[in-house]
Amino acid sequence: MHRFVLGFAIALAFAAFTSAPAEAAPPPYYPPVDWIPAAAGNFSVGRGGAQITTIVIHETDGSYSSAINWFRRPGSNASAHYLVRAWDGEITQLVAESDTAYHARDANPWTIGIEHEFYLRQGILHTDAQYRSSALLVCAIARRYDIPLDRNHIVGHRELPNQFHGDPGPLWDWTYYMSLVRSCAGGEGRATASSIETCAEPGCTPPAGLEFGDEGADVALLQWDLAYLGFITDDTLANGSGSFGPLTLDAVVAFQQAKDVPATGYYGELTAAALSEALAQNPVTAPTAPLQPGTMSTDVSKLQVSLRKLGYMDLVTGYYGRITQEAVLQFQQDSGIDATGTYGAITRMALATQSR
Ligand SMILES: [Zn+2]
Repeated sequence: MHRFVLGFAIALAFAAFTSAPAEAAPPPYYPPVDWIPAAAGNFSVGRGGAQITTIVIHETDGSYSSAINWFRRPGSNASAHYLVRAWDGEITQLVAESDTAYHARDANPWTIGIEHEFYLRQGILHTDAQYRSSALLVCAIARRYDIPLDRNHIVGHRELPNQFHGDPGPLWDWTYYMSLVRSCAGGEGRATASSIETCAEPGCTPPAGLEFGDEGADVALLQWDLAYLGFITDDTLANGSGSFGPLTLDAVVAFQQAKDVPATGYYGELTAAALSEALAQNPVTAPTAPLQPGTMSTDVSKLQVSLRKLGYMDLVTGYYGRITQEAVLQFQQDSGIDATGTYGAITRMALATQSR
């Protein structure tokens, strides 16, 4: 999709506000998405009996907001299921996967269309954040419909027959993108939950061997992991984490019962393995820790986006300077975490928990 150069101010002014379809919540392994429904006539309800077999990659050739406006404009006759923003990888869904978006002509009934913000003239290029976010989305879609993670099933708009579009162009890095997509694949080339930014890697769960009465950072990490998974409330932890008391004991037992681990209340090897697995199945979208003040990176942008969503800061710069440090400090104080101003595993899990 591309070339929506017409009067968007007018389109915006007259855009009909339609309510979001009552779609069932996506499976838990999906990355978070915002919902801004396309105008009713810009897609069709249902799939006409076709099975979803292929994911189509597009470039917008326009800004994120202009793409949203175009799809929401009645009569544009165009839409995509998803749109991924360039600078931070934010995903907006416009059409339910069970409905047919208008993005690839004949291929519409059996495909899911993902637009990627790209606008060369304005200097809006693909970013690492965008590639990663899109890859996570593709992994989730592929897992849902059992779509193989290869270039026969993840195709560019330009590669479909009977198309008159050139997207994505040469600046779309297929090699890198497919490496990200495959990094979430299991042994058989299918998507699994463990992937790009899961908590499967070391540092996301504390080492085994914690019990009632223990105190310290490992206990705090265990508590926030359990909070993220819904076994303990963040309100409980806001009064201070790091102490393995009766509430934590209850949470560990509840977790063990849910995961068929002997319900001892002791955080040992079996429970630690179950915790890693549970986090891998519920990928954390907060950036991978650690991040230090003075860093400039896409991960810092993502951290800032998360902090902004929670009202701790306004500007997203990608630089971990004094303002970001103060925002992290404030967040840590409010969350009952050791206020260090640096972004580590405990802060990551607290942020992920409160951003859900
Ligand atoms: Zn296209």
